Amino acid sequence: MFWLWDRLTGDPDRVAEEMRAEDTARAPTDEDDAAPPALRCRVCGYEGAERFCPTCLAGTMVPIPLRDRTPR
Ligand SMILES: [Zn+2]
Repeated sequence: MFWLWDRLTGDPDRVAEEMRAEDTARAPTDEDDAAPPALRCRVCGYEGAERFCPTCLAGTMVPIPLRDRTPR
């Protein structure tokens, strides 16, 4: 229970920082069901889970590199 005491009596800025850190730790990963679409149209940039781009009506969807995914 020390963490509770620490939050009640500790420096508010530092406590808020710790809580933000915990939120980051709980953030969903790419393994999560709510992960962003992993495909992107190489022609128009549409992102989705479909193999065929609904805009181009063609099989132009390619996997999005992990480093290049849209940050949430
Ligand atoms: Zn497209």
